Amino acid sequence: MENMWAPWRMEYILSQKEHKGCVFCLEDWGGELTQKDSERLVVYKGKHCFVMLNRYPYAAGHLMVIPYRHVMDITDLAEEERSDFMELVNISCKALRKVCRCDGINMGINLGKAAGAGIADHLHGHLVPRWEGDSQFIAVVADVRLIPERLETMQKTFALAFKEIME
Ligand SMILES: [Zn+2]
Repeated sequence: MENMWAPWRMEYILSQKEHKGCVFCLEDWGGELTQKDSERLVVYKGKHCFVMLNRYPYAAGHLMVIPYRHVMDITDLAEEERSDFMELVNISCKALRKVCRCDGINMGINLGKAAGAGIADHLHGHLVPRWEGDSQFIAVVADVRLIPERLETMQKTFALAFKEIME
């Protein structure tokens, strides 16, 4: 277990970068957001994990924290990846409060199809903003589902918020 992050493992990791057809696999790991990243609604790229908006949100501002590496389970993550995952969950909470002014946040990870994971092959954690008297936001959620421009605007807003938080 202690050898989880051995150099040979890094080679192995780099050799299996992108899985064809996986919506959570990115071409470019780390660095600045590319045009392609923005189109895919990525809002922040960390060292081992990244944050993106859910295209089919439970609520406006529904974020997902995802490791770059195409792994199924939380136990497949190396120590560095796990700590970066938690770090991005932390920053995401700050971003959600800043952008959405939410009163609460639901956090969760569904491991496996049996647990309700829509895409079970690539691990992802959900962060869903909640407001007091949530039901009045149903209209907003419906809008987000129907109007792609709303998601584009939200991507820009969140990308900026993450940048400001990290400065
Ligand atoms: Zn993947």
